[in-house]
Amino acid sequence: MTEIFKIIDQSRSIGIFGHIRPDGDCMGSVTALYNYLKDQYNEREKHIEVYLDSVPENFWFLNRADEIRTDFPNNNFYDVMLILDCGSLDRIGAAQAYFPNAKTTINIDHHISNTKFADISIIDLESSSTCELLYTLMEKDKISFSTAEALYLGIVHDTGVFKHSNTKKRTMEIAGELLDKGVSSSKIIDGTFYEKTFLQNQILGHCLMESSLALGGRVILSFISQKLIHFYKSKPADYDGIIDQLRITKGIEAAILLIEMEENEYKVSMRSNTFVDVSTIATSFGGGGHIRAAGCTIQGPLSEVTYQILNAIEKQME
Ligand code: AMP
Ligand code: MN
Ligand code: MN
Repeated sequence: MTEIFKIIDQSRSIGIFGHIRPDGDCMGSVTALYNYLKDQYNEREKHIEVYLDSVPENFWFLNRADEIRTDFPNNNFYDVMLILDCGSLDRIGAAQAYFPNAKTTINIDHHISNTKFADISIIDLESSSTCELLYTLMEKDKISFSTAEALYLGIVHDTGVFKHSNTKKRTMEIAGELLDKGVSSSKIIDGTFYEKTFLQNQILGHCLMESSLALGGRVILSFISQKLIHFYKSKPADYDGIIDQLRITKGIEAAILLIEMEENEYKVSMRSNTFVDVSTIATSFGGGGHIRAAGCTIQGPLSEVTYQILNAIEKQME
């Protein structure tokens, strides 16, 4: 048994957490771990709770996704707090309040910007996803179909369906082993990654129409305003995939998507193709991520935010 599962085995109350505005890897990893533990322990043996700030609709089909709590009651105490797919404590949002009360905190993650904020940090930068890392920690014969589906989902999302540079031989091997557990690749890939609602397609179309080139055509930028967000009554999960479409524009080294969260506050998503290190740029603005995919939040008017990001990219291009 891996060290962390020994600690869990000796504990009574366990809380599982992911990052704010969960993506596929965050959703997949918390749900996989929850299923893995729930399959082994009954409620009398262990009280296990799982939290996310929201659960995007295309992930609802995962087993026990309906048990994920989206409320964060005050004063929760856990023997073990497991924090997945988070590179820094602020990324867990409201659950930060539970952190000082927990007896042991464990962080399982794969971000280069990880700040090692927990008592135990299991960080593997070589893992494509937290789900891939989690698979290597789990006992293979204890991985049920439900756990396998959730793990597969996370790997699919963080690798952009096995196409990003984080996809290694091991990633494919693990995905293959998950297929052996009965996972349907087309159900997960089409159903959760490629399938878009009408509204998501409209927003994607809008962002492509309004995109512009900078730095001699090597950078592509687009923007989602508060006005657009209200018009479409959209939520963060509706913008998944937009940045990936921008990134594959021919001749582009870096793609930037700016989402106006509130007046003078922008969530910045960045992707690069070959040499720009967007993680360093995101970290310099208080965010984080990976070398080829990172994000941060910047305050200020749109023109100023755009200028700062382009300036940072240009420095790396010189
Ligand atoms: P996104 O552009 O939101 O898809 O994020 C790309 C990568 O950067 C993901 O691995 C995120 O976890 C990470 N990331 C995005 N925003 C932030 C942030 N504000 N702070 C730290 N990491 C972030
Ligand atoms: Mn994530
Ligand atoms: Mn991830």
